Amino acid sequence: MSDINEYLDNSTGIDVNDLLIAYILFADDLILCSETPEGLQTLLNQLQIFCSKWHLILSPTKSKIMVFNKRKVAKNVVFTFNNSVLEIVFEYKYLGVIFSSNTNDCFKKNGEHLASKARKATFALNSYIKNSVGYLNPRQSLHMFDKQIVPILDYACDVTYGSTSNYELEKVHLNYLKYLLCVKPCTSSKAVYAELGRFTLETKHKIQVLKYWQRLLNMPDGTPIKHAYNELFSLQSSRHRNWCSFVKQILIDVDMEDIWLNQDISDKNIRAIKCLLHENFIRDTLTGIEDSEKSPKLRSYKLFKTDFRLENYLSCIRNRSHQIALSKFRVSSHNLRIETGRYDRNPKLEPHERLCIYCTSNCVEDENHFILGCPLYKNQRRLLFNICKRNIDNFDSLNDENRFIKIMSSKNEIIIRNLGKYVYNCFNIRSKYSR
Ligand SMILES: [Zn+2]
Repeated sequence: MSDINEYLDNSTGIDVNDLLIAYILFADDLILCSETPEGLQTLLNQLQIFCSKWHLILSPTKSKIMVFNKRKVAKNVVFTFNNSVLEIVFEYKYLGVIFSSNTNDCFKKNGEHLASKARKATFALNSYIKNSVGYLNPRQSLHMFDKQIVPILDYACDVTYGSTSNYELEKVHLNYLKYLLCVKPCTSSKAVYAELGRFTLETKHKIQVLKYWQRLLNMPDGTPIKHAYNELFSLQSSRHRNWCSFVKQILIDVDMEDIWLNQDISDKNIRAIKCLLHENFIRDTLTGIEDSEKSPKLRSYKLFKTDFRLENYLSCIRNRSHQIALSKFRVSSHNLRIETGRYDRNPKLEPHERLCIYCTSNCVEDENHFILGCPLYKNQRRLLFNICKRNIDNFDSLNDENRFIKIMSSKNEIIIRNLGKYVYNCFNIRSKYSR
């Protein structure tokens, strides 16, 4: 293919910042490009001559035409190769990325495509784990997910960043986190990230974008890719939204617009931005959890969840059922009246009216009542409290709210394991009474 440029007319390509590009060659994949239909047909004819000279056969069914244009393609435009009409398509997968035409977002189908691939791979990974080792704890499962699935979701993220379809990628990630905790799909995302100490994929993709931007800036002038960057840069300066706008926005969001203005970013800058992005994400997540108006489901969670990390109980409770029960309980993915009462419409129940129906105390059936108050669980509670008395200073003299916080936020493995067991056993007792 090395002499292909001798055949292709290099006066009919597309103008990229004063560099005319008529074709892009990657291994045996060839793209011909032109700004006019006539120009493209000329290139196709020249390619035909090249192919006959070297006895190469080009598959007309695999070769497609794409028109990048906001207007519709005129119906009478036809492109031929070796007397076969080539199909005009609106989407094409090139080097693993789906490109779409006729749109402001040429990666608008790519997120969905990667998400679907990642979902299939997740399913295969889960089956493999189930059939080989049976069960991995959440820390080990996350490690597997990061090694096997995240690379699919990260594919070409530095280039496709900013596409509206990328929210599909985070959906796969978040669904997996909820699957690990065995919580309901409607569980607060903030609580799920905080419980597992996870950042969104977007946080990571921003860093990938900055690293790619750094590589672009360091490329010598004259390379086609540098021309393409300069073109995007000048379009962005005249208020056209494109990839450069996204880079600029990432920097503005961390108060580092001067880096954009200087068009220079060091490794040290990137490391500092990574820390800032993480700090901001943690702060926003914890503030969101604190905000009872926006997250009424997290009214108990916010009392004991103050740090952002993979919780101890996820590795120290070895009984899977106990661990799941505790996960559900902590993030309010349970069926205590405080939660189920929100769906009562006839009459509509305010939180203070969602009373426990398993005792006569007239108390709201919330997490606090479940752990400290409801007489239905008094035998289980005696065992748990005995352990708390031995491991929490002045447990007897604490008021109810402080007892609840101390138990739920304890880092003591004996308390954590017994709490998991308590929650699991008490929910079983409760479900027997509901029948
Ligand atoms: Zn009760």
